[in-house]
Amino acid sequence: MILHKTYDVNSVGHLTIGGIDSAELAKEFGTPSYFLDTDAVRDMCRMYKKAFAEYFGERSVPVYAGKALCYKGIYKLIAEEGLGADCVSPGELYTANAAGFPMDKVFFHGNNKTDADLELAISLGTGHIVVDGLDELSSLDRIAGEMGVKQHILLRITPGIDPHTHKKIVTGNVDSKFGMAIMTGQAFEFVKAALETKNLILDGFHCHVGSQIFDIEPFTEAADIMLAFVAKISAEYGYTAKMLNIGGGFGVRYTEDDPEIDYVKNIRDLGAEIDKMCALYGIEKPMILMEPGRSIVAAAGCTLYTCGTVKTVNGFRSYVSVDGGMPDNPRYTLYQSQYTILNASHADRTPDFECTIAGRCCESGDLLAEGISIAKPERGDIIATLVTGAYNYSMSSNYNRLPKPPIIEIACGEAKIAVKRETYEDIISHDI
Ligand SMILES: *Cc1c(COP(=O)(O)O)cnc(C)c1O
Repeated sequence: MILHKTYDVNSVGHLTIGGIDSAELAKEFGTPSYFLDTDAVRDMCRMYKKAFAEYFGERSVPVYAGKALCYKGIYKLIAEEGLGADCVSPGELYTANAAGFPMDKVFFHGNNKTDADLELAISLGTGHIVVDGLDELSSLDRIAGEMGVKQHILLRITPGIDPHTHKKIVTGNVDSKFGMAIMTGQAFEFVKAALETKNLILDGFHCHVGSQIFDIEPFTEAADIMLAFVAKISAEYGYTAKMLNIGGGFGVRYTEDDPEIDYVKNIRDLGAEIDKMCALYGIEKPMILMEPGRSIVAAAGCTLYTCGTVKTVNGFRSYVSVDGGMPDNPRYTLYQSQYTILNASHADRTPDFECTIAGRCCESGDLLAEGISIAKPERGDIIATLVTGAYNYSMSSNYNRLPKPPIIEIACGEAKIAVKRETYEDIISHDI
């Protein structure tokens, strides 16, 4: 096993993905390509479902945040596993609906939903619209009225937590484009306005503290603040929230340097804190929801490239160039995100060649990693980036007019195309 159970090395020294030789996969599907071990995705879904039912309450369901990885096949899988879905754009709503996803289990987010987005969400039968602010609240009330619909909503509340300092700080998340802040008092006005609408049914509140969070403290802090808010609203307005959605953000192990995460223990600790707080405030426990995205799909995904040029700039560094780059994985360019990258053709050899992995774009910043070590590759070797299941395909672009790679799903030792490779014809298909 390398990092996660999806990855191993076989007797000929090749990386295997979901039990299949990466050389065979590269040959059959070409490079660059994304691979997704859907058995591992299902395991994560089941782990969350079981842990939520056990520690948050029987009615609690995980809600998959589709922005991590969005295509029809993943919504079908998520539906089969019985999870809800979180959509953040009309395109994601459209994809979920096209996949036959039960739209009543969808939560629609976004800090700037247009009237057209709201109309689409209502017409598709979206279960909950998570209203972000006062402008949206009044527009949605009017549109729902025009469409003759009573729309269920949650309100996006900003608890004021910076997950990276684990402290409630005045700036940080209070100063956010998302939601209405408790600290400024605006969240209370927001609830009052929501209760006065004619066509909206307020079911509760939502918050989201951040992403790639390894500890449980930011979540317990968020839950404490939100439950105190629920209690205060109940006392002041006589309104009791039925649902509390505390967002996504569970971390994922990208490299050996990242800690191992015990998700079940984290959920158990959070569940215990929620029970304690509800008892303390004397409120009935709302239905607790969370929206994991990254942690459901990241570890199960992997990208294969073919090595092209290997060049050493004497006195400086060595570059290993691959046939993809920032268009299929912009996360190093954007955030210097660290990945485990290896020479999949020689996964059994000592990784002793220090290099920078470069993409193929005309852009010096188009890099996938710097200062890492892999087994010395030569032109034609297969290079793998592990743990690319989240925020790679979903953030991919056609920069330099490069076609997007396909997504190949691997289940029970069988590989099949779930999203086709784009062609040059696709690239020009919208050009008049
Ligand atoms: C991004 C996001 C998520 C998912 O976060 P992960 O870090 O991928 O788990 C969930 N809910 C909301 C509202 C988000 O914006």
